[in-house]
Amino acid sequence: MTNSNNELKARCAALRQIYDGFAEQRLQLDLTRGKPAADQLDLSSGLDGILDGFYTLQDGTDVRNYGGILGIPEARELGARLLGIEAASVLAGGNSSLNLMYHYVNYRLEGSPGESPGWRANSDTVKFLCPVPGYDRHFTVCNHFNIEMINVPFTDAGPDLDFIEAAVEADATIKGIWCIPKYSNPTGHTYSDATVERLAELPGIASRDFTIFWDNAYAVHTLTDTPDTLANIMAFAEAKGTSDGLVMFASTSKITFAGAGVAFLATSEANLKGFEAYLTPSVIGFDKVNQLRHARFLPNDAAVADLMQQHRALIAPKFELVESKLSAALKGKGIASWTRPKGGYFVSLDTLPGLASETIRLAAEVGVKLTPAGATFPGGIDPEDTNIRIAPTFPPLDDLSTALDVLVVCIELASAVRQLGANT
Ligand code: PLP
Repeated sequence: MTNSNNELKARCAALRQIYDGFAEQRLQLDLTRGKPAADQLDLSSGLDGILDGFYTLQDGTDVRNYGGILGIPEARELGARLLGIEAASVLAGGNSSLNLMYHYVNYRLEGSPGESPGWRANSDTVKFLCPVPGYDRHFTVCNHFNIEMINVPFTDAGPDLDFIEAAVEADATIKGIWCIPKYSNPTGHTYSDATVERLAELPGIASRDFTIFWDNAYAVHTLTDTPDTLANIMAFAEAKGTSDGLVMFASTSKITFAGAGVAFLATSEANLKGFEAYLTPSVIGFDKVNQLRHARFLPNDAAVADLMQQHRALIAPKFELVESKLSAALKGKGIASWTRPKGGYFVSLDTLPGLASETIRLAAEVGVKLTPAGATFPGGIDPEDTNIRIAPTFPPLDDLSTALDVLVVCIELASAVRQLGANT
């Protein structure tokens, strides 16, 4: 940042003028929505009519009828391929993996007869480890069930394992951890092999009923020619005898239709049986017609990879625009840092401490909506008030470009005003 006071005042005035110019444009732009744009959804319009009247599986099952909570074999195979595990461990469900996460938390809280007494059997207090910044809806699930959340810092290799191991060894009321292991929301991190292996050991050193929630929402969502690779946690867990403490999730929400995809849950066969019994009073079977449509549309890894390349062609330019706009305006000024994800749906930006909410307020006043400050932290509280989640996929490039112009001016203006205040 410019350091002489006069230069700073001049810079502030110039920024204020640009900012006022934005106000006159009466913008209405939104960078909050981590969802696919319409052209991405169009890539999967082949789902429509793909069954062409054939609703019967090889084993004679009519997918239009009731039944089969674990899902049809073809869809379980699709989930198994996405998660890199055996189909026998997979449940293919409805359209939302978040819904399966919610239910798995509830299943563990309730416990299952003869197997587990439930997380609250010995103490009303239940805690989860939450690597931050993270996915706000994981935190909403915890909040809903009155589960206390503990912020876990990130390292470049993933969540800080020294912190995590010390916490679970010291406190048996810690029953779970949220992990988004690949192209994490919002930081874009992919966990290192060593991190995955150490995480797989956790159920062995934590409370007996500790569970790793492995939300692999962005398993195939790469933006480069050199995708990150993620070690197979199920293989580690099986080798270490901890697979009962692992539950994995994925979905096609950001592969096909965000509101009408297929979601998957995978865990040990014993857990899967228990979870099936838990679900039975609430559902007779999920949407098997949609499962079959997806199995036909994505019959193998090549079909998934081809579709993801088409997504990449549409969204990589948006991520490149974020990088180029942030770099051009902010690089080297010491007032912001941000991630350059190789996949996923978000860019995570950090302002100077205490300036995320002010930046977001300034942007909102000239018509650019950003994800609320703190949304990426449990309880909506970012202790440093630095993190801003940028979701570039949904807006058209032109809108994204203008929104980023506003964002960088707001960051610099907030920083300059702060610096001026500190100098006087
Ligand atoms: N998990 C993560 C990490 C996400 O970012 C999202 C959506 O943004 C979801 C889960 C939601 O998945 P689904 O649509 O399968 O419920």
